[in-house]
Amino acid sequence: MSSETTNRPDRTFKVVGLPGDGIGPEVYASACQVLDVVQDRFGVHVQLDPQLIGGAAIDASGSPLPQATIDACRQADAALLGAVGGPKWDGNPVDRRPESGLLKIRAEFNLFCNLRPIVTHPALHGFSPLKPDRLENVDLMLVRELTGGIYFGKKWRKGDRAEDVCSYNREEITRVTRAAARIAQQRDRRITLVDKANVLETSRLWREVVHQVIADEFPDVQVENMFVDAAAMHLLNRPADFDVMLTENLFGDILSDEASMLCGSLGLLPSASLNEEQFGLYEPVHGSAPDIAGQGIANPYAMLLSVAMMLRHSLDCPEEADALEQTIFACWNEGILTRDLVENGLGTQDITEAVCQRLSARKSSGHYSGNTPGLHLQ
Ligand code: NAD
Repeated sequence: MSSETTNRPDRTFKVVGLPGDGIGPEVYASACQVLDVVQDRFGVHVQLDPQLIGGAAIDASGSPLPQATIDACRQADAALLGAVGGPKWDGNPVDRRPESGLLKIRAEFNLFCNLRPIVTHPALHGFSPLKPDRLENVDLMLVRELTGGIYFGKKWRKGDRAEDVCSYNREEITRVTRAAARIAQQRDRRITLVDKANVLETSRLWREVVHQVIADEFPDVQVENMFVDAAAMHLLNRPADFDVMLTENLFGDILSDEASMLCGSLGLLPSASLNEEQFGLYEPVHGSAPDIAGQGIANPYAMLLSVAMMLRHSLDCPEEADALEQTIFACWNEGILTRDLVENGLGTQDITEAVCQRLSARKSSGHYSGNTPGLHLQ
């Protein structure tokens, strides 16, 4: 047996695979190959159950989130998603658009806590539009509330008028604040609460609740307030100053895409969306990239880093998560990169093989540096 972990209890997990649309199936295939190596090398058995979501699901069943996918997720420890969407479905009514499959799975499984780590790596500083000196020591965790706010509020349109309602309650803010505080306790114990409390009533409720929860339950964590417009500016001006950034759904969506530019490409950023039962949906931050789909050039690193997050947070395998992340960083140091970063860069399959080779050859040191435990929200 090639695994060095034969003395550990057998670790077998069920994961629903959701390849989706566009480059989704391409980066998902990369994840499957790497998970095979994780099994051989570390004895972590991930049983993948492929299901439909997004445009592929609409074509097959008429629904962007079929009941079979929901049922499979109920039996699973986690779900791993490629990406959804594409021009083919852009004209569909709202409930038959691929993206509504994503909103539904978040709501169905109460995936209220979205984690987006933004870490710059010295080997990639040259690929960011920002000056390299701004990028040193950037290591921030964006915690975005994912099941409330304007994306889930009432919407209507009548003639030339339309309205989207933004609503939050105390409980929704409390639980995501606790998640952010637990993460802060594993880091530098600083939270920046991003809002628009000078204008929005929901933001004023956020401030009241966040400060109360931190004062009552996490007195070792500091909170600073920042308006979202200022946060957008400071993310570019002094990104290394942030530790944990906590914000609501809409602001988090926008700020995380902005923050992706610190790292050099959208193709490098992973994400996790968690509920209180430790079930998580893991996916790259990027979309289905229809402009490059089918060409074998999609950057798979965001997907592979999402696999590492899944190992850490839903499968309780932080050492394996760490090993995969360290292998990816070693590849970056060696200049093993795709075309979104370098001219004549490698294809998806070349990158995947490079990661697999290095991961299976990785020596066990008995412990891994920077081994961050998983986040348990209950
Ligand atoms: P996108 O993230 O798909 O692409 C933006 C740009 O980044 C494109 O030029 C694309 O080629 C490039 N890019 C993205 N990921 C890449 C990767 N891994 N490797 C190399 N280059 C990459 O965003 P978009 O173009 O605004 O949206 C395309 C579709 O994706 C839309 O239908 C949108 O609704 C959907 N979308 C889905 C998700 C999701 O599934 N979570 C997220 C965002 C957008």
